[in-house]
Order: sequence, then C-alpha cells, then structure tokens
Amino acid sequence: MRKIGIIGATGSIGSQAIDIIEQEKDDFQVIFLTAHNQLDKLIKIGKKVNAKHLVLTSERHHTDKVLTGIDELLKVIENEEIDIILSAAVGFSGLIPTYCALKKGIDIALANKESMVAAGRLLNETAKKNDAKIIPVDSEHSAVYQCLLGHDTSYLEKIILTASGGPFRNRPIDSFEFISVEEALNHPNWSMGRKITVDSATMMNKGLELIEARFLFNVGHDKLDVVIHPESIIHSIVAFCDGSYLAQMGVPDMKIPISYAISYPERVKLDIPRLNFFELKKLTFIKPDFERYPCLRIAMEALKIDKNSIYIALNAANEVAVDAFLKEVIKFNEIPMIIERTIEDFPVEDVMDIEEIVKMDKLAREKSRKLMSNII
Ligand code: NAD
Ligand code: MG
Repeated sequence: MRKIGIIGATGSIGSQAIDIIEQEKDDFQVIFLTAHNQLDKLIKIGKKVNAKHLVLTSERHHTDKVLTGIDELLKVIENEEIDIILSAAVGFSGLIPTYCALKKGIDIALANKESMVAAGRLLNETAKKNDAKIIPVDSEHSAVYQCLLGHDTSYLEKIILTASGGPFRNRPIDSFEFISVEEALNHPNWSMGRKITVDSATMMNKGLELIEARFLFNVGHDKLDVVIHPESIIHSIVAFCDGSYLAQMGVPDMKIPISYAISYPERVKLDIPRLNFFELKKLTFIKPDFERYPCLRIAMEALKIDKNSIYIALNAANEVAVDAFLKEVIKFNEIPMIIERTIEDFPVEDVMDIEEIVKMDKLAREKSRKLMSNII
C-alpha cells in the first residue's frame, strides 16, 4: 500500500491520477487531496478514492466541509505519514507545499514544472539532504528519466526534448496578434489545463521544460536541445558520447507518465491505445524557428545566464502575461514582450532561501504588471 497525497487533484493531471488510483485501489491509500476553488468536485473525488483529508487551498473560501488554506495543507503534510505526493497544482503556488514535502523526506511525483523552474537548485538540495526522490510527470522528462535509468550520466552528450509545435506551427507569423483565446486553447495532441495549453502555443512550455530538465538531470544549456515532432509519439531522446540514442515512445496520453511516477519502480497496466507502427508510417522532425517562438529563445538565453532570479522572473512574468491573455487584456504576441522586458535589468543572482525566492517572485510579478499597464 502506497500512501499518496495529491496537490491539485481537480486539475487535468490530478483527475487522471484519480482515475489511475481508482483502478489500482489495492495499491494506494489516499491521505489527502487538494483543490483551489472547486469544492464540490473535491468532495466528489474525495469520496471516490476514500481520501482521508480534503483541503481547499484558496483562502477566499471558508467552509466546515473541508480543511481550508495552505497552512492546513502544510499541517497535513507535516503530521501524516505519506510516501509520495503528486505535485500537480498549476504555477508558482505549487512551490511551498512541494518544498515542505521534500523537507520531510517525502518523494515527489512532479508535474508542477514551475516550482522546479523557480527553485530547482533548492528543491534538488532539499531532496538530497532528506533522501527524497523527485520523479518527473512531464512526459518529456519521464521519457528522459526512463532512458537514463541504469546509465552513467558522465557519458551523456545531449538531452533532446521533443515538442509538438502547438496549434500555430503553420500559421502566418504576421497574424499572431489576432490569435484568439479559443484558438490558443485548441491544442492538436494534448488535452490539458488552460495555462499549460497557452504555454504550449507560445512554446514557453518547452522553455520551462528546458529549465526543468536543467535541474532534474543536472545538465548545462550546451547539453539541451529541442526538436519539433508534431506527432508527439517520441516523448524525448537522450544521446550518449558513442553516438547511441535512446528514445521513449507511446501514444500521447498523460496517464503513462503519471502512472509511472506514482508507481515507480513498478508499472501499472493501462487500458489505453497501443502504438500501431503500420498506421503511423512515418515520424517527422522540424527545427524550431525563434521568430515563430520567441518564448523559446528567451528561455534558452536565460539558461545561458543560469541564475535563478532570472528563472523566477521568466516564470512569474509568463504567469502574469498568460493570465492577462486569457482574460483578453493583452494580445498573444505581447506575452513574449512582457517576459523579455521583465527579465531585462532584473537582478542577476542565485537565491537559495525559500523566503527570498517568494520575495523575488513577487518583485517580478509587480514589474510585469507595471509593464503591462504601459502596453494597454
Ligand atoms: P489545471 O489547471 O487543469 O489544474 C490545476 C490544479 O491546481 C487544480 O486542481 C487547481 O485547483 C489547482 N490550483 C490552481 N491554482 C492553485 C493555487 N493558487 N494554489 C494551489 N492549487 C491551485 O492544470 P494541469 O494541466 O493539471 O497542470 C498542472 C501542472 O502540471 C502544471 O504545472 C502543468 O505545467 C503540469 N503539466 C500538465 C500537463 C497536462 O497534461 N495537463 C502535462 C505536463 C505537465
Ligand atoms: Mg511536457
């Protein structure tokens, strides 16, 4: 019996994890589930998997039906015996509970890439100190993790993340300012939460994933690459110094990496479509174009600086800008502008302390909001 908690249980990743746990009832005991706002849905899924605690993390709601507020979540993490936590909240908000869990030596199945981007070094150090594992849920990182198992990483030459290219791979660039929210939310291969779907359209998602990979696998920018692979069958590739490549494949279904991360080192039998190579016929690969995807260029430049104040600023500005785009306050092509200007002249330093990281994130958000009010 594995004792599990899920942060962000009502989201796209969280809901798929609930389905897997329901299927594998005998293997998991659910210690807690959290949601930010959706009380009814939280109660419903809590019943489904017989969760011991339910926490609504938003401070705005007060109800005696469930625990409320982030402090209650931290208390549950502190006081309960838990083997693994699926960190699947969206955005920087996932950082504090993830950090507290690692501090207690609890393994993390990490979907919340933003916390690794903002605090990769601190999370790695905390995990190491407390003998906790961080197992990636992101499909690309799960692929890399699986390809690297049993290999000495001193022979690693490159990690190549694959990207679908999103819905605007062939759209004329001069029409990007007219991209509607609905168009941006229409991803060709994956069904995901709103923020990550927009990130996939700008390809900041791949930028965040490069930074995530930098910390998960402890590699520099010179060992990281991106290739567009529109079919999303190869989930990522690792190359070794002898010219050998390993790749992981599968249908694009997040249940594969989610189940892998929460069951590791075991595997779950999943009832999802198998690859049919005769139907696939061919796989294609395209070089990403920075003019089409400026967010990817910005992330790659940040990787060269490799100071986490810059990663914090990039992540915070992206969250602010994507939120504004979703509210139709700014245009699609203004997202990279806000991120780039937020990073410009931002303090360049490594912040290791959790409180300093939170302060730095606030500072970046204030700056990007100010920049935004100048645009609109
Ligand atoms: P989602 O929007 O569908 O769900 C987000 C969840 O987080 C919900 O349960 C929500 O209640 C909770 N939440 C929202 N704001 C919060 C806050 N301020 N504090 C605490 N909880 C909050 O998002 P998603 O698509 O499931 O993505 C979750 C994370 O997983 C993101 O970091 C995303 O980048 C990553 N991820 C998602 C996918 C995918 O297929 N959806 C794939 C790879 C990585
Ligand atoms: Mg991914």
